[in-house]
Amino acid sequence: MKKVYLDNASTTQIRPEVIQEMTKVMTEDFGNPSSTHGFGRNAKSVLELSRKTIAKNLNASAQEIIFTSCGTEANNWILRSAVKDLKVERIITSKIEHHAVLYTAQALQKEFDIQLDYVAIKPNGEIDITDLVELLSQGHKTLVSLMHVNNEIGTVLDLERVGVICKEHNALFHSDTVQSIGKTELDLQKLNVDFIVASAHKFHGPKGIGFAFVRKNSGLQPLFFGGEQEKGMRAGTEAVHQIAGIAKALEFSYANLNAERNHISELRRYLIETLEVEFPAFSINGVSDGFYNMVNVLLPFSDEKTAMILFHLDMKGIAVSRGSACQSGSIKASHVLAEMLSMEDLKKPSLRISFSHYNSKEDVDLLINALKSI
Ligand code: PLP
Repeated sequence: MKKVYLDNASTTQIRPEVIQEMTKVMTEDFGNPSSTHGFGRNAKSVLELSRKTIAKNLNASAQEIIFTSCGTEANNWILRSAVKDLKVERIITSKIEHHAVLYTAQALQKEFDIQLDYVAIKPNGEIDITDLVELLSQGHKTLVSLMHVNNEIGTVLDLERVGVICKEHNALFHSDTVQSIGKTELDLQKLNVDFIVASAHKFHGPKGIGFAFVRKNSGLQPLFFGGEQEKGMRAGTEAVHQIAGIAKALEFSYANLNAERNHISELRRYLIETLEVEFPAFSINGVSDGFYNMVNVLLPFSDEKTAMILFHLDMKGIAVSRGSACQSGSIKASHVLAEMLSMEDLKKPSLRISFSHYNSKEDVDLLINALKSI
């Protein structure tokens, strides 16, 4: 049975070249980058070359890239230090952010008594920019935290526009770019963004490594205290092999971006076209022209079929993600879809199907056939 992995917004397969690079570093460059001897200097050189590679691909300067253990850590760090050290009195975010931002903002509200405002979401899942402007006209030292590509429905924020709006209103701007880094071009010299974050496992790198881009002279302070690693901004011995892995993964993603984006966009188009033929009553959650690597669909299945759908797909070796999961009392509905769908639609099965360049049209056919056989 061919296994079909269509859950690439959740995590991705590591590129063989990345594994090769990491294995080389683990074997040959195992020194501690803080050591002054040759072993240490080798490791330090891997570390700093990786930082430069990442900075170059995003048009940032190397000193603005700080390695973290994951995207969650980077988001937590930025939000917390913005409140604690930069004296932000208000966070504007949205109810459809990843929990790494949403729960952090809510925890900070309780802990520091800051104001927390949620920008309105349009029925198609896009951020209502007019409402953002309205909120920003209310004074207070503010951090706006809005994600670039939504990890459940693939809606895309206009980073350029929001960056300009934030600048006009003297607000700091953080964007969770975990779903877009490596999958679309980002020019950090052009964008008015103060902080963004990345996670390697979303772009064919290893799990357990990410980074924050922290604009020069931002004043951000560390979350952890300990050694002088990452210029004191993130204490703890650097995971050199992981860092070499994230740099190699990003480099490859950008080197192959056009070809892989075309291939993936074609798969998404083919999936939607085939659904239109096989399940004409299906609908797309969010905008139909969302980010090219994913689509969240609401399927017109009866109640009894809804309960079985993921189990059935799994039995056939097909991995997709649940868009909503209200059929079972034990599973919570997606907080993102809950902002957009009626109660009735929330009870129907929604699936998030997300592609990588490793997928083919055959994978789409297998998924469709499996859905038809339920
Ligand atoms: N932000 C977004 C938008 C994500 O999709 C994810 C991963 O699911 C994260 C943050 C968390 O990243 P990590 O798994 O590196 O902690």
